Amino acid sequence: MSIKDISLSGRKTEVVDKKMTFKERLYLPAIVQGLGITIKHFFKKKDTIQYPEQQREFSPVYRGQHVLMRDDEGRERCTACGLCALACPAEAITMVAAERKKGEEHLYREEKYAAVYAINMLRCIFCGLCEDACPKEAIFLTKSKKLVKPKLDRKDFIYGKDKLVISVEDGKARKYD
Ligand code: SF4
Ligand code: SF4
Repeated sequence: MSIKDISLSGRKTEVVDKKMTFKERLYLPAIVQGLGITIKHFFKKKDTIQYPEQQREFSPVYRGQHVLMRDDEGRERCTACGLCALACPAEAITMVAAERKKGEEHLYREEKYAAVYAINMLRCIFCGLCEDACPKEAIFLTKSKKLVKPKLDRKDFIYGKDKLVISVEDGKARKYD
């Protein structure tokens, strides 16, 4: 049976013990040809850059790290509704809701707030669906060029409120890029 008859794609070819020509047996032309390709690349525009000294332009649709926003009075906007966690395809968001107590009105905008809010950066794919799902404009993906830092311990990639909630000053200035 021929190999073509048993090939599902029909593209398999039979290996033949073809004799090398005299030119092929010399090897030198192939070496010169290979060197020619190498030399040609010396004069071509390089595709690589000297990172981190040089950096490429980011795409206009680039999405960087998340930020949990405050309102104009500096209060946390998040009401722990859980819609961002539901929308997240990577199941990267977790939270624990709590009720605002008397005297905490200056801290939290709504009666319910996120006592714990965490994003697992190892899971996050920076799709932005959490931002789209949020009814309170509480979570944004910024244009920040600060990337998630490499670490050895998995727990260091769980970003809690200490890393996510914007500072009062930056929140008032809407400085979250
Ligand atoms: S950006 Fe996407 S993957 Fe990351 S936390 Fe938001 S919804 Fe989940
Ligand atoms: S960030 Fe927005 S969607 Fe997520 S829990 Fe807070 S208010 Fe709800």
